Amino acid sequence: MKVPFFRLSSGKEEIENVTSVINSGWLTTGKWARELESNFADHCGVKHALAVNSCTAALHLSVEALGIGPGDKVLVPSLTFTASAEVIRYVGADPVFLDVDPETLLLRPDDVDRAFSKDDQIKAMIVVHFGGQSAQLDGVNGLLNVSKKHGVRIIQDAAHAFPAEDTYGPVGSVGDITCFSFYANKTITSGEGGMLVTNDEDVAHRVKLMRLHGIDRDVWDRFVGSRASSWVYDVKAPGFKYNMPDLNAAVAVAQFRKAGRFRDQRAAIVNHYREAFCSLSGVRLLHSRVPDKSHSHHLFPIVLGDGSKCSRDEFIEAMAEKGIGTSVHYRPLHRMTYYRNRYRLDERDFPNTESYWKGCVSLPVYPAMSQAELEYVIRNVKELLA
Ligand SMILES: *Cc1c(COP(=O)(O)O)cnc(C)c1O
Repeated sequence: MKVPFFRLSSGKEEIENVTSVINSGWLTTGKWARELESNFADHCGVKHALAVNSCTAALHLSVEALGIGPGDKVLVPSLTFTASAEVIRYVGADPVFLDVDPETLLLRPDDVDRAFSKDDQIKAMIVVHFGGQSAQLDGVNGLLNVSKKHGVRIIQDAAHAFPAEDTYGPVGSVGDITCFSFYANKTITSGEGGMLVTNDEDVAHRVKLMRLHGIDRDVWDRFVGSRASSWVYDVKAPGFKYNMPDLNAAVAVAQFRKAGRFRDQRAAIVNHYREAFCSLSGVRLLHSRVPDKSHSHHLFPIVLGDGSKCSRDEFIEAMAEKGIGTSVHYRPLHRMTYYRNRYRLDERDFPNTESYWKGCVSLPVYPAMSQAELEYVIRNVKELLA
């Protein structure tokens, strides 16, 4: 049997939508991107949802719209994908890397508070909802209050966290800006794509401008607007080419409708995993800080500790021999050549991230996984580690 690390769930709805886009003759940004935007605005309960061609683009537009630039710093966890930090460099600012909570892998408000107090060049932070559970934003000691106290803006990297909820509501409903990803193996996909949501009028205005060449009216407005003046536009800034084509948006619109069901299917797989692996010696499972339903369950990492039957690398190798795909999320950024050299980062400053990363391995969890595949994964994990 072969169980890949990820397999797409897609059906006739995606194909029908894409066919309809092609038949319409309008392939780039248009009514499908608009529809996806209104789906996200409704879901998050926010005023503005802006579709772009990746979450990386959304993150870049976020720091740009907040006016972050050279001389500024932005806080980010070391345990994330490089996109969360590279966008800080795009605008000439510098990342400040932080360790995470050992149980949840999320930023701890106390650490964040301390970092802000030490360094007033920090103008924003990028909060990563690791694996699909929301970081602690609300509450007296939550990140929203901490950032307010220091006048720091909050960008959420919710690439893993759609759909996810917390006590404050859906991820994306609070904070300055939230960015979602529709990359090929994320919880819903458009092949490539992203969404930025915000209630901030200035941010929304700037992002709309900058996602399409700095042109003051978007292509769609020119297309559907008054024919007579459809050639008129002005360039207000050297913007980017970050708009989401309808070909992609049409896929995401179909996926959006299934997102809740997909989440429940991943949750069911995770429950089976938890039950099967909770008593394996030397194997650590992560903790949820939110009720299970609030978690998008994008990732299911287990951590092989000192007492485990084999090392992480041996485990990955042995699983591959059985035809089972696994992955590592992530080799932390403080270990990546660019960040380590440029910012002279030291592993000893990231003890929790270190102990997680040395033993972590993510198991397959996606709606297209069959019962037989699930049982096959569980049986093989147990054979290797029990
Ligand atoms: C996938 C991912 C991104 C980037 O998303 P793209 O849509 O591929 O640009 C950013 N941050 C995290 C944590 C991710 O996992």
